[in-house]
Order: sequence, then structure tokens, then C-alpha cells
Amino acid sequence: MISVEQAFQLIGEAASSLLPEQVDLQNLVGRILLEPVIADVDSPPHDKSMMDGWAVRSQDIQPGAEYEITETVIAGAVPTKALSENQVARIMTGAPLPKAADAVVMVELSIPGETESTVKFEIDSVRPEHHILRSGANFSTGQTLFPAGHQVRPTDIGLLAEVGIASARACKTPSVAVLPTGNELVNCDQRPGPGQIRNSNGPMLLAMLRSAGAATSDLGVGRDDAADLRANMQKGLEHDILILSGGVSAGEKDLVPGILKSLGVKEIFHKVKVKPGKPVWFGVSESSVKRTLVFGLPGNPVSSLVGFQLFVRAALRVLAGGSLASDRAVMASLACDHQTRGDRPTYWPGQLLADPSITRSVIPLKWNGSSDLLALGRADGLIYFSADQHDHSAGKEVSFLPF
Ligand code: AMP
Ligand code: MG
Repeated sequence: MISVEQAFQLIGEAASSLLPEQVDLQNLVGRILLEPVIADVDSPPHDKSMMDGWAVRSQDIQPGAEYEITETVIAGAVPTKALSENQVARIMTGAPLPKAADAVVMVELSIPGETESTVKFEIDSVRPEHHILRSGANFSTGQTLFPAGHQVRPTDIGLLAEVGIASARACKTPSVAVLPTGNELVNCDQRPGPGQIRNSNGPMLLAMLRSAGAATSDLGVGRDDAADLRANMQKGLEHDILILSGGVSAGEKDLVPGILKSLGVKEIFHKVKVKPGKPVWFGVSESSVKRTLVFGLPGNPVSSLVGFQLFVRAALRVLAGGSLASDRAVMASLACDHQTRGDRPTYWPGQLLADPSITRSVIPLKWNGSSDLLALGRADGLIYFSADQHDHSAGKEVSFLPF
């Protein structure tokens, strides 16, 4: 049986990035940039006022003085007059600073002068550079703002707009088909009869795929019947990825690996040293027109979930032009003693504690294993426990994979 690391390696060898396309700014969230983003402007583009108030020459400001108003500069306008001694300009937030001005006095600190065209201040002095931001203080033209490989977040969109990125190159969205299998499965809008259970994996896998930015195709539920499964799998092989759940273990009706092979899907691995999720199957279907990565996830819902988080996500990252390895794992301190069993590394549902201490701590939740989705409903991610140790003391540093 191969290790999780070997499984990653094999997925990395089988997967390659999809063709690039130009993606509109509004659709870039979640996509991986294929080219760096370089600033085409200075930010701010001009020396600007950070306040509504008065642009002044700081050396002119002294107690009781009165100043001549040269003009009013609103945001979007350009000042026309340089300031001379004891001159000030009315200026609005964001507006460009007149020449010779080196500070701004807030409007709240001003009082009318003796005439319409003069003003006084309730201050005795002002520091040079007060309430102004110089051109290029944030970033300057030619600066790299994001490297290639950056995954765009909603919070990045404003910066991309600021530097004129109306669209950017990213790999095409992967199309992924989902086919849960099992004679016992009924849809979630039905009440299960004797021996039946509701199909949890189908909706769960589709939802996780959508949130990972994939285009999904729901193939419905496949029955444990060779002809039925074969026809459904054939449809699934028209996509970049086909995800099956169930039917990959050692049971009598575990038909999936055999049918995949008969359809020409090459097995790359079957079974990984991981808990839950050991029976996971992975293969590749290759024709002259299409390469499809096929994941057969074990039927128990948490096994399917862990298989998705570890292996399918890795493949999705590579297809999207990113790296095989996740950069999301963080270190956390175990909030209480915990025991694991067996000879496989375990991914255990864990909840981050709303603890204001500076160290992140995580509590392993009460969990009955691969069929127990309740713990997952409360979990923020998975705690990794290696196989070589079974007793884990509170305070131990563990790796935590957030969802
Ligand atoms: P299998 O991998 O087909 O042997 O299924 C293992 C266990 O997972 C069985 O108890 C199944 O009933 C359950 N299971 C399989 N598919 C699903 C599904 N789509 N939703 C919920 N449970 C499932
Ligand atoms: Mg089954």
C-alpha cells in the first residue's frame, strides 16, 4: 500500500494544467494567475490630500496668521496655481496637491478670515507632510504586485482594478463529473426505506467542487449493476475529472475498479495508507481528444470527504496551473490529550478554539469514524496524526488542514 506522499506524487505525474484562457476580472476569484501582475500606474498617481481641508506651506503656519485662498481643488480636478508665501488652497480628500504645498490642515481646524478670500487656523504650526500622501507611496509603476501562481481572492480584486487588470490569463475551469454508486442510496428528498440511506456524497462532492471553482456535472446515482455503471462512467469520462464514490472496497458489489479497467482507464493506485479513506482508487483515461483523471472515493461520507480534501484538491490545483502541494496546512497546538489507533496516519476532525491566546489551538472532536458526518459539521478542518504515535498529549504541535 502506498503512502499519502506517494499518492500525491503519482497524481502530480498524471495531472497537467488545462489550456489557458483570458478571464474577466469579475470571474477571477479562485483562479490562479498565469502571469505576474505589474503596476501600470503609481499609487497614488499624484501627491494627494488625505483630508478635506487646506493645502498649505508648513513654514507659513504661525499663531494668529491669516492666509489668502488661491483656489479650490476638488477630487478629479487639477490645481492651477502654485502656493506663494501665506497662500493656501481649499482641497478635498484625494485631490492633487498644488505646487509648493507640503501639508494639509483639516477643515475642522479652520475659521473664516476677515474677507471671503481669506482663512485662519486654530493651530500654531503644522508638521511638513501632515495629511498628505506622496505619489507612489503605496506602490510604483513597474512594481510586481502579485507573482504568477497567486490564487486570486475577493480582497485582491480592488488592487487588480486599480492597475487596470480588466482580465487576466488563467487555466480553463476544470469540468468534473460526480457519480455516487450504491443500491442502498436514495435521494436526500426521500425518506429511506429498510436498508436504505440517503445519498450524502453526491451533494457534498458537488458542493465542495463548486466552492473549489470547478464546473460540475451531476450524473445522479449509479446502481451496483455493471451495465448501468458502465454507461454512466462513459458519460463521466467526457470530463476532465470523474469522481465516483462507493464500490471501490472489497465487497461483493464493489464493481467500480473492474468496470473502469474494462473502459480502458489505467489504474495508477488503489489503496493508500490513510485513515479514513484507505480504499481510494486513482487512474487515468487517455484518448486522442481527452485525458480524464478518475478518482474512486470510498463510499463512507467522511472517507469521501477526506479523499476529496487530500487528493482531488491536489489534482484541481495542478489543472488550474498551481502547485500539487497545498499551502493551507497550519500548525496548531492540541487542546487536550488524544488517542489514535492503527498503523495508518489519521486525519481527525478538529475544531479551532475561539481562544484569544496567540497560539492557535485545535480540539479533536468526538468522532465515530468514516460514517460520522456530525463531527464534520462542527469541524473547521482535519488534524493530522502520524501513525508512529498513538498517545498525543495536550499542547503537542500538530498539522491542521483547514477546509
Ligand atoms: P462502499 O464503499 O460502497 O462499500 O460503501 C461504504 C459505506 O458507505 C456503506 O455503508 C455505504 O452505504 C456508504 N455509502 C456509500 N455511498 C454513499 C453515499 N453516496 N452517501 C452516503 N453513504 C454512502
Ligand atoms: Mg457500495
